[in-house]
Amino acid sequence: MPLPKEFIGKLPKVELHLHLEGSLRPNTLRELSRGRGGMESKIEQWILEREKQGYRYSTFTEFIEAFKFVVLLLETPEDYALATVRLMEWLAEQNVKYAEITLAAGVVLWKRQPLDQVYEAVRKTSLEAEARLGMRVNWIFDAVRQFGAEHAHAVLRWASRYRSEGVVAFGLGGDEERGPGSLFADVYREARDCGLHTLAHAGETTGPESVREAVELLKVERVGHGLAAARDPEVMGLLRERGVPLEGCPGSNASIGLIPEFRDYPLPALLDAGVTMTLNSDDPALFGTSLEQEFTRAAAEFSLSAPQAAGLCENAVRAAFLPEHEKELLLTQIQQAAVG
Ligand SMILES: [Zn+2]
Repeated sequence: MPLPKEFIGKLPKVELHLHLEGSLRPNTLRELSRGRGGMESKIEQWILEREKQGYRYSTFTEFIEAFKFVVLLLETPEDYALATVRLMEWLAEQNVKYAEITLAAGVVLWKRQPLDQVYEAVRKTSLEAEARLGMRVNWIFDAVRQFGAEHAHAVLRWASRYRSEGVVAFGLGGDEERGPGSLFADVYREARDCGLHTLAHAGETTGPESVREAVELLKVERVGHGLAAARDPEVMGLLRERGVPLEGCPGSNASIGLIPEFRDYPLPALLDAGVTMTLNSDDPALFGTSLEQEFTRAAAEFSLSAPQAAGLCENAVRAAFLPEHEKELLLTQIQQAAVG
């Protein structure tokens, strides 16, 4: 029997792989387009298209185009602040107690927007929303692989500037083929030297070698996706030995066609190999999903028991970039919900 919906709803959740820009749901897009001549109808058209396609993309490039479309709607620091508050309200509805949200800082720089003003607006809004909603968030700044090492350095400088103001980690996303890990070893060393945590998207659109590179060369503390690791027992062994968790995003992988369907996500194989797994929604609004839905679907497709579902939440707490006492608090909440 599948886990009751109420159990998943009540389970205190933690999300580690979540892009602010990919969290703009139709109503937030409508809010953003208001008063911008001509945008309203364009947005409606775009939303209709996503719905018609069932939030699926035939290629990774097609997905990137959709991501770009929403990113370009974020024109001002106030737009970013609105995106933040709407995302946090959504997370609170799903009983997400803690989230590490990725801000595509590299994309803000690419758009030639003032990153200081953008982040300060986002941070201020998130502090207000934390108090109101009873949850916590921290921030990850990520750079774009294909923009190269110099660009990544620029993003790192900003991340380090805001390290004591909610930015906990430096990450890397984008095109793995055009921006291999080997370009970024120095940037990651510097990130560690300035006391930032590190992570990278890897093994999403390319093979297991990209995961190995992220672990061995970039020495990341977590891998975003790492889907391809499941194809290579040695890479799974490496993740297990080094204790590097994967931020699994099955709904995202299925939407982009990296796996045929959600049920094809190699969760059982990764767990059997002893890899620490977490569940995440990635760009939930672009994939028509949510963290709660990822848990509901995973529980149904992989017949997860209550302790297994709670275990995935506990893994996320342990893999979070939080002080120990905050982790303890979250773990207690999860254990109480799991028995209760
Ligand atoms: Zn991602």
